[in-house]
Amino acid sequence: MAFITKTFYSQEDLVSHLKAHQPSFYFSSKTSTVIPYDKLDTLLPWKKDSDFFLCDLSKLPATMELKENGNLILRGAVSWEEAKNFLRAKGRNLKTSPTEQLALITAGIATSCTGERCFAFGNMRSQVVRLKYLDYNGEEKELRRDEDFKTSSPAIHAYQDDFKFYQNFKNAPYPRFEKGIDLMIGTEGQLGLVTEVEIETTENEAVNYVFMLLPRWEENMAPHLEIYNAVQSHRNAIISCELLDSNCMNYLKPEEKLGNNQDVIFLEIKSSAFEDIYGNVLCSLELTSPDEVYEIAENKFHHVRAGVPRAIFEENSKMGVVKVGTDVQVGPEHFPDLLNFYRRASQIGVRYCLFGHFGDAHLHYNYMPKKEETAKCLDELQKLYDQVLDWRGSPFAEHGIGLIKQKYIKKFHGKNQLELFHDLKKEHDPYNQFFPQGFMSEGQ
Ligand SMILES: Cc1cc2nc3c(=O)[nH]c(=O)nc-3n(C[C@H](O)[C@H](O)[C@H](O)COP(=O)(O)OP(=O)(O)OC[C@H]3O[C@@H](n4cnc5c(N)ncnc54)[C@H](O)[C@@H]3O)c2cc1C
Repeated sequence: MAFITKTFYSQEDLVSHLKAHQPSFYFSSKTSTVIPYDKLDTLLPWKKDSDFFLCDLSKLPATMELKENGNLILRGAVSWEEAKNFLRAKGRNLKTSPTEQLALITAGIATSCTGERCFAFGNMRSQVVRLKYLDYNGEEKELRRDEDFKTSSPAIHAYQDDFKFYQNFKNAPYPRFEKGIDLMIGTEGQLGLVTEVEIETTENEAVNYVFMLLPRWEENMAPHLEIYNAVQSHRNAIISCELLDSNCMNYLKPEEKLGNNQDVIFLEIKSSAFEDIYGNVLCSLELTSPDEVYEIAENKFHHVRAGVPRAIFEENSKMGVVKVGTDVQVGPEHFPDLLNFYRRASQIGVRYCLFGHFGDAHLHYNYMPKKEETAKCLDELQKLYDQVLDWRGSPFAEHGIGLIKQKYIKKFHGKNQLELFHDLKKEHDPYNQFFPQGFMSEGQ
């Protein structure tokens, strides 16, 4: 048996491949942080005699169309960046803005992508009106959000009852399976391949970006928490609220660094509401002076914000270390607990940094270990996931489970989840041809 890479340039070729029911892993822009693309052949264990296919969807023909009602219909390999540029030229904008703009939107359905603008507009799932996908016979089918999720599995009722607890999270420890579209959302290509999406967009309103300089969270997190609380009731005016801590600045060029060994919280604010937010929210903070609030150009914000996780990703690859980072979202009542956990975790003597979607209590804590330090970092991660289970938080709120997080998600999946995964795999992937090593196969 061998791993064989195939690139698809047309939907017809893809359909022929699907009809042959070959075991395959399908990928788009390869920006997933939970799929180690440089080690796929070792981490996608395949003990069977048949060949295994690594299928590149990033060359499929791309089209976009803006409907009169403002919805965007896209097909094929369209990235977030391309869609944003297309829409802006027409006075519209995306409601979802993942930090990595080179990822494809069809893949974003599969990973239930979220990102910065989720603070104002909610997760991507809430913006999907309908989508199309290719099933195991290569037949294209449509799913709609105004239809209920359909399955013959009796496990669906208990599953949906369990899900209710997580409905305010960006993503729960398992997919939602409530509306028709949910068959493809967050299922990571294990039940079919997304080919077309219709998403809501928003008017391209003018925005201002500001950042605030704060003390290091490890020493004093009170100013951070004051800002977290202050922005919550302004989600109609503040579009995103992001954090880069002082350690992140080490990954930027000297001329890009912000502050002086300080943490940075960024806000994207609608220009129409800027004076109100500045005067009534930012100037009312007791622990951050208005003198520590600065404007920043939009392109500089995106450059700096995306530069940090990209640099960490590259550094880990260079060191030959699989990413040791988190993607945890907790309820507001546990946000101080999460920060305190990270503070303790920062004391084990391994380099680290903290960044992420601060306004949603959703942060990425990253260790940058040397190879010999990896084991103790993984130990800390296991302790964290035990805590998150206790707090009933969401361990992987946007990057998904892929291969790297499967070990940790197991405790979050009980009988009701495993039964439904098993039944859905049987119903929608009878030949086990879609990512057979994915988390849904836990139930098999
Ligand atoms: C620097 C950086 C910042 C990031 N920031 C964010 C962020 O803010 N928010 C966020 O949500 N994620 C973020 N990510 C993670 C990543 O960008 C997303 O998970 C993204 O959706 C992956 O898209 P991709 O095109 O790279 O997919 P890939 O990595 O190629 O694939 C990801 C998964 O989707 C499946 N898949 C791909 N295409 C399809 C398809 N057409 N149909 C069905 N399944 C498919 C694959 O099998 C795989 O399981 C970030 C990553 C990096 C490196």
